[in-house]
Amino acid sequence: MATQEETFKKMVAHCKEYGFVFPSSDIYDGLGAVYDYGQNGVELKNNIKRYWWEAMTRVHENIVGIDAAIFMHPTTWKASGHVDAFNDPLIDNRDSKKRYRADVLIEDQIAKYDEKIEKEIAKAAKRFGDSFDAELFRQTNPRVQEHVQKREALHTRYSEAMNANDLNELKQIILDEGIVCPISGTKNWTDVRQFNLMFSTEMGSTSDGSMKIYLRPETAQGIFVNFLNVQKTGRMKIPFGIAQIGKAFRNEIVARQFVFRMREFEQMEMQFFVRPGEEMEWFKYWKEHRLSWHKALGLGDEKYRYHDHEKLAHYANAATDIEFQMPFGFKEVEGIHSRTNFDLSQHAKYSGKKIEYFDPELNKSYTPYVIETSIGVDRMFLSIMCSAYKEETLENGETRVVLSLPPVLAPTKVCVMPLVKKDGLPEKAEEVMQLLKYDFRCAYDEKDSIGKRYRRQDAVGTPFCVTIDHDTLTDNCVTVRYRDTMAQERIAISELPALIGKAVDMKELLRKLA
Ligand code: ATP
Repeated sequence: MATQEETFKKMVAHCKEYGFVFPSSDIYDGLGAVYDYGQNGVELKNNIKRYWWEAMTRVHENIVGIDAAIFMHPTTWKASGHVDAFNDPLIDNRDSKKRYRADVLIEDQIAKYDEKIEKEIAKAAKRFGDSFDAELFRQTNPRVQEHVQKREALHTRYSEAMNANDLNELKQIILDEGIVCPISGTKNWTDVRQFNLMFSTEMGSTSDGSMKIYLRPETAQGIFVNFLNVQKTGRMKIPFGIAQIGKAFRNEIVARQFVFRMREFEQMEMQFFVRPGEEMEWFKYWKEHRLSWHKALGLGDEKYRYHDHEKLAHYANAATDIEFQMPFGFKEVEGIHSRTNFDLSQHAKYSGKKIEYFDPELNKSYTPYVIETSIGVDRMFLSIMCSAYKEETLENGETRVVLSLPPVLAPTKVCVMPLVKKDGLPEKAEEVMQLLKYDFRCAYDEKDSIGKRYRRQDAVGTPFCVTIDHDTLTDNCVTVRYRDTMAQERIAISELPALIGKAVDMKELLRKLA
């Protein structure tokens, strides 16, 4: 059996081989943590975005969309706090010249203590058999207790240093714990420095007096600065939401795990404006609603979990992540945050404009509170790919790679195949293409054996293959072959649109959410 890591590597290679994801500027050997989506990847990505967009703007009549510019007035980022506080602490190893996030090095060290504890427990469980009480052992075994104490002491020291923004203390922790660079194996560390994750550039020519501007690190601020525009022109009544899909940029220090952590990525964010005091109800609503959006795709309910934040940003009064079980552990795919009135108040302060809502029912004005749902398109893409990629051994001993994508998201819905390239079969196949192509994204394939053609479609996740044979010319029936079960069935051509339509219909998914 392949390990999860090996399967993950194969999945990444598969993404390139089958036109889902390429390294950016591939002919120049790529650019760190930047990727391009290929012919199949873009279709899958667009389908994910469509599913999110419609779940927001169609299922909820009180949510509307916008598409704000990537460039924003620089004061935006002063007001939002990103100029001063959107930082990661970084540290370099002088021998390997490698750069790390100091917080990640320490968190990895904490995880090592956890591993040691779990190992001791697993060892004892083996020794004692059925009568083993893991909790009792954890509380009483001296070796485990020693690890637990060290772990707790480190965790406390680390949290205090992070909260106080104490960079010297972070370095001291790294030295005291004897953390070494995984490449050079040495403790020859530089001081810890703050590193702002925003990319900046210049706007305007220097003679005009150019202006330093930023590539947005999140799409949310484009929504906040447009709050009044949308509320007034759309005559929106609280509670209401504004949704947006767009690119965001972060100069991540350590970018890894394929499209999980990129320097240019895409977000789908929705800010939901509510009455002050009602935010906890809405937080609960969005927390549940967003999880049901994920689960409706059928990737497996057990693959999701919430991770409630213990440490909240100073302006937030509740926050949770929806995590997905990736091959490298449960990881955040989406964040749901109760942001109080922080952002709107900050923009009011910095712009000098009054950003309030007059509530006709309460007959008073206030600054609305905000619940945010924020999900990365690329992380969503990755979670779908990780759960869809399968290597199967068939009954006859052959193997196949299949992407069991939810049919509604699959790049291609159906592949039409004439059994042979003669006897009028391609012409008949063309008729079938004409019948289907305006409703579904179709592929046409007449090359190689039918078996090989099926494999090619399995590899890109096409849920249906339709074969036209000699009998089709007289009985107007075709063979439909299903991707997951590989079962085959003969049906009339006229029944195809309904059969495929039912399986790939996004309406069915959206209704589940209502
Ligand atoms: P992390 O802790 O993993 O860096 P975050 O908490 O900084 O993520 P948010 O600022 O809450 O992330 O952003 C919302 C969503 O945007 C995340 O849940 C994730 O799906 C996506 N996202 C954030 N940073 C990246 C990135 N560098 N590459 C791809 N997606 C990202």
